[in-house]
Amino acid sequence: MTALVFLDPAHPEGRVADPSQPQLKVTSSGITRGDGIFETMLAVKGAPRKLQAHLSRLATSAEALELKVPPSDEWERAISTALREADDDGDLVVKLVAVRDGDAGSSAIAWVLVTPLPQGLRGQRLSVLLLDRGYDSTVAQRAPWLLMGAKTLSYAVNMAALRHARSQGADDVIFTSSDGKVLEGPTSTVLIARVINGVKHLITPQLETGILPGTSQGALFEAARDAGWELGYGPLVPEDLFNADGAWLISSVRLLAEIGSIDGKPLTISPELSAELGELVESVS
Ligand code: PLP
Repeated sequence: MTALVFLDPAHPEGRVADPSQPQLKVTSSGITRGDGIFETMLAVKGAPRKLQAHLSRLATSAEALELKVPPSDEWERAISTALREADDDGDLVVKLVAVRDGDAGSSAIAWVLVTPLPQGLRGQRLSVLLLDRGYDSTVAQRAPWLLMGAKTLSYAVNMAALRHARSQGADDVIFTSSDGKVLEGPTSTVLIARVINGVKHLITPQLETGILPGTSQGALFEAARDAGWELGYGPLVPEDLFNADGAWLISSVRLLAEIGSIDGKPLTISPELSAELGELVESVS
């Protein structure tokens, strides 16, 4: 079931609201300009996964936008209330949103929305297009106002990239920088695995390219390190994807998704490595 809870100083546990009714002022620049931030996480059997990692990234995004958001304990109470309201033991999607209240200033309207997991999301082998994001891989350091690496609500470009891919018969996208580096998916982190002299390596593009620090990638890296994998952080170029023993897109709700082809060219994917990483992803919470 869907549940909506606003963070509200007058309601320490959060204020429950009706998600089927209008709730926001049309003047909020969160609506008119996408001036806000969000997090999307998974809840399993009523418990949010990687909660602290999501709250920590939310705080970093808020800082980048100079947005005053409620402290973590308020979010935690509102999330608990929303999950209780949803009253559903299945997998649920928990979205945390904070938008600028009005046109300027730093105060935010913040809420938690819990919805059922969309059907047919998982287990697909993806066909992916490489699409140019139009920035070079050093832009994040030169132009902090681009908010690279913050999880802002301005996802219209990401959604347009996905629509473009689908219009070409593909399932998903990997963005590349104008200087040819592999970046990330519109809603996911890129991972590759290579077995070198019997040692398993798990590699992801480096954060300096301006990509979002993925909480799923972070948790998987910890679990993989404990399981004996070597870890690496780019730089990656498209050729690395074709030369890998497996490549995946990973994110909090869809989890680990195998990449079957890129720009129509098939990729090698080791079923053993995929199964092992899949189990590691399931084990992290
Ligand atoms: N990169 C982008 C641009 C995303 O939007 C997301 C998630 O939505 C990710 C990576 C993966 O992040 P996480 O693993 O925290 O869900």
